[in-house]
Amino acid sequence: IYGPDRRNSKGVNLNINSQYQPLMDAMAKHMDTRYEARPLLAFDVATDPALVHEVTSPHDRRQTVGSVLWTSKEQAQQALDAAWAAFPRWDETPVAERAAILRRFADLMEEHLAELMALCSREGGKLLTDGVDEIREAVDFCRYYATRAEELFANPTRLPGPTGESNDLVMGGKGVFAAISPWNFPVAIFCGQLVATAVAGNTVLAKPAEQTSIVAHRVVELLFEAGMPRDVVQLLPGDGPTVGSVLTSDPRITGVVFTGGTDTAQIINRALAARENAPLPTLIAETGGMNAMIVDSTALPEQVVADVIQSAFQSAGQRCSALRVLYLQDDVADRVIEILEGAMDELHVGDPRELGTDVGPVIDEDARKGLMAHIEKLKGEGRLLAETRLDPAHTAHGTFIAPTAFRIDGIDALEREQFGPVLHIVRYKASEIDKVIDSINGRGYGLTFGVHSRNESFAELIAQKIRAGNVYVNRNIIGAVVGVQPFGGQGLSGTGPKAGGPHYLLRFATEKTVTVNT
Ligand code: GLU
Repeated sequence: IYGPDRRNSKGVNLNINSQYQPLMDAMAKHMDTRYEARPLLAFDVATDPALVHEVTSPHDRRQTVGSVLWTSKEQAQQALDAAWAAFPRWDETPVAERAAILRRFADLMEEHLAELMALCSREGGKLLTDGVDEIREAVDFCRYYATRAEELFANPTRLPGPTGESNDLVMGGKGVFAAISPWNFPVAIFCGQLVATAVAGNTVLAKPAEQTSIVAHRVVELLFEAGMPRDVVQLLPGDGPTVGSVLTSDPRITGVVFTGGTDTAQIINRALAARENAPLPTLIAETGGMNAMIVDSTALPEQVVADVIQSAFQSAGQRCSALRVLYLQDDVADRVIEILEGAMDELHVGDPRELGTDVGPVIDEDARKGLMAHIEKLKGEGRLLAETRLDPAHTAHGTFIAPTAFRIDGIDALEREQFGPVLHIVRYKASEIDKVIDSINGRGYGLTFGVHSRNESFAELIAQKIRAGNVYVNRNIIGAVVGVQPFGGQGLSGTGPKAGGPHYLLRFATEKTVTVNT
């Protein structure tokens, strides 16, 4: 699995017309379809009109994607009963069978690429390029974890028996997991959580983000088509207070795999800890970041700007990995800011379904309002350095935010993660580098980090001192690749597991040592 023979999926190259056009034609068929998503549980659920929610598109709120029926508290509890009952059977199912389901699921997602991309764009506001990457990542997670599960779970590990006894280490599932996923990777992270949990022998209750339940519903339909039993993975669309609270308060939940905000992870952690007579839980959390990049005077300004634009503004800055604070050494700062201004001027903000769009909408009105409050505050303090122009002809009906860059004094000036296309720039003097590193480490997050320098030993030293899960030298800091750049942070950024890495499945597994006196 580590070797050069392992290949990720190829995806589609949108710059080649013979690949682009057929995909667009296939997507067009799914652009007007009205979808009706509902809980996918081990039993049938009746429709309660009070729980039906309409879903509209972030780039144009006049366009409807469909509706979602939310899960009631009682249904969530019954789903948990079914997941609990199914666990022993599933855990005993040979891992080869479980892995085969993941591989069929990956193939089905590739077959349905156009539809899944259409939904990512209509419901999640995703650009076409981001959509291609999204489905590729989901497919790669499935194939990677399938292979890794077979390596880890198929056979017990025979250990030494110095006293004549035999010792075997046997891997198994832990029980019932809740998988609580974010809207920013509604297919990739959603699938990654589900398949890792299930292939390790656990049963799963998946709560997708409220904003992206429709695509999650379609994905789980494909997972069932691939052969996943309906009591092993269940889909519970709904809100945190209703569904999330059942999933984090019941003592039968053995673990939670969560990607989202740090605040929410803390709420989940407290809820799990407060349960009476419950087993000590497993929490696998990938949370926010306050990701920084340090640029020294030897860096190439043009390359820095290209990487900063991608890191800060791709996916409208709605990635945990996105760049939030750019540290520029004084000697190079003016030049970088000048080129950055020019590059930001060129960005086109608009319809995510058009190939020429660089920055799509943010996910919803709440997100837009929160970001606008931050932007207005910094503008009021006279800190604006650059701003992309919004053209109302392309943005009037959606939740758009213009990419902006502000000058701030240091990472400590930021109270919270701003999950959007807002970049903060700090100038520093070469003599202050230790202080800069201390303040980045001291802020407490530790997800991604970048350094740009042609001085190899400087880059190495910084990379070594920074406490972050993913460190990138002389490139952008987003888009970790499955099996190549295992992804996940530390401190306020998460409990540390690396999605798409060789050790990830171990977090979902128990190990049993069996000693036989022969
Ligand atoms: N894995 C993604 C990346 O490297 C980010 C995931 C997230 O936003 O949670 O860009």
